[in-house]
Amino acid sequence: MQDLYIHNTLSRKKELFKPINEEHVGLYVCGPTLYSDVHIGNCRTFTSFDIMYRYLLHLGYKVRYIRNITDVGHMEDEVAETGEDRIGKQARLKKLEPMEIVQRYAFGFREVMGLLNLLPPSVEPLASGHIIEQIEMTQKIIDQGYAYVEDGSVYFDVEKFAKSHNYGILSGRSLEDQLNNTRDLDGQQEKKGRLDFALWKKAKPEHIMRWNSPWGVGFPGWHIECSAMSQKYLGETFDIHGGGMDLIPTHHTNEVAQSVGCCGNAPVKYWVHTNMLTLNGQKMSRSLGNVFLPVELFTGKKMAADSPSATPSQAKLEGKHPLFEKAYSPMCVRFFMMQTHYSSTLDFSNEALQASEKGFNRLMESYSTLEKLTAAGNSSVDIKKIETDCYVAMSDDFNTPILLSHLFECARIINSANDKKESLSQADIDLLKKIYQNFIVDVLGLKREGESGKSAEALDGVMQLVLDIRKKAKENKDYATSDLIRDQLLKTGIQVKDGKEGTSWSI
Ligand code: AMP
Ligand code: ZN
Repeated sequence: MQDLYIHNTLSRKKELFKPINEEHVGLYVCGPTLYSDVHIGNCRTFTSFDIMYRYLLHLGYKVRYIRNITDVGHMEDEVAETGEDRIGKQARLKKLEPMEIVQRYAFGFREVMGLLNLLPPSVEPLASGHIIEQIEMTQKIIDQGYAYVEDGSVYFDVEKFAKSHNYGILSGRSLEDQLNNTRDLDGQQEKKGRLDFALWKKAKPEHIMRWNSPWGVGFPGWHIECSAMSQKYLGETFDIHGGGMDLIPTHHTNEVAQSVGCCGNAPVKYWVHTNMLTLNGQKMSRSLGNVFLPVELFTGKKMAADSPSATPSQAKLEGKHPLFEKAYSPMCVRFFMMQTHYSSTLDFSNEALQASEKGFNRLMESYSTLEKLTAAGNSSVDIKKIETDCYVAMSDDFNTPILLSHLFECARIINSANDKKESLSQADIDLLKKIYQNFIVDVLGLKREGESGKSAEALDGVMQLVLDIRKKAKENKDYATSDLIRDQLLKTGIQVKDGKEGTSWSI
């Protein structure tokens, strides 16, 4: 099998990838907390891991890919573990069951993942479906002496653990440094040390999500779900654990401590972390409020405040989105993400997306050209070398920008062969087809935006024109024409709605 090098956060180096069980790979990625819609930053992380998953499959590994859904235990202040449970709060505000909140956003999340052409994971476990496993793991950590019970809650004793283990193994930070840079324990005096974190929390009477446990009625902490579920589906030690790098200092650091505290083994061989999608240089995050939704990017429109759902197929949209000059298709967005290596930040801008759209179209047009290309004598270029280069790029820590540069070299060759400036043998054409299928379709997960994408764009343009004409008619007090347009559109199934912020339409 092709040698694959992966950057491991543990060693801060690229390492040769050797799976624990030959041919099999266990991959766990921290999934979203579904108290609202996933934003495009979350999508970047999941898309990066989708490409890694696809490449491992392409190399012939049998991969078990687990991506969880967090539906309990993620508090508003995730470091201090204070405030309300994020899902519980939405349930209270919207007067819904917590499971209704999660179901609504899970539906939208999966639809967005599908539009971006992500392969579904092998298992998508929910934290609330694994309470027993989390209680059992917590009990084992208590038995090993690394956790203590305090008034119905259970806390991990970080300073005790750090006496015999390197607590900061992932972040590279010393315990002193972490202690000095952590806030005082405001309102959480139950904890012995300021770095201690909850494995189980006693539920206050008003807390909605609650389960029985050996320590009373409560709910699990945020970190224990990933340790318990990765162990259940992938074993005590597995190959790759991923997530955004914002998870290193707390969530993943505590995952390592929990697993080591429970079983004595390091849980993961290769820790892989993706960098952040930023907006004007600032991390896109729901708590900072600088997020936009995939459906807004895909349509160029703003989602209405009273939209019943942000699911792309059901969202109610109104007016142009202030951030986007136009709509960008899901494949263009996917292409935009892979133009930067997963370990670098990626700043969102209209210019960058427009450039990606051009690049994506150029690549896909060359695919159509390739399908029609006919052989013309002997080759003047070495296609085999380009194929090797594609593997070298992806095997060098999944270097998608370098891979794309090789694919664009293929596009250049295809176009000049089509212009009869270069000649390609049938074997070379076949090899180019194999490269395109393997790398563009299978590994990068790009697909041609069929007629449906194009006709949606065309319809958008036509509707804009029709609504402009109707607006002019209204301004000229020609209400007969404006009403005729509205009524005729309704007959074809298109509803026009006049609102404060202008006119919108829906099918
Ligand atoms: P959350 O639902 O906030 O727990 O995030 C789910 C996943 O998305 C985690 O792996 C985060 O690290 C990742 N993530 C959150 N914000 C961003 C961002 N701006 N760019 C890239 N990944 C992100
Ligand atoms: Zn996690």
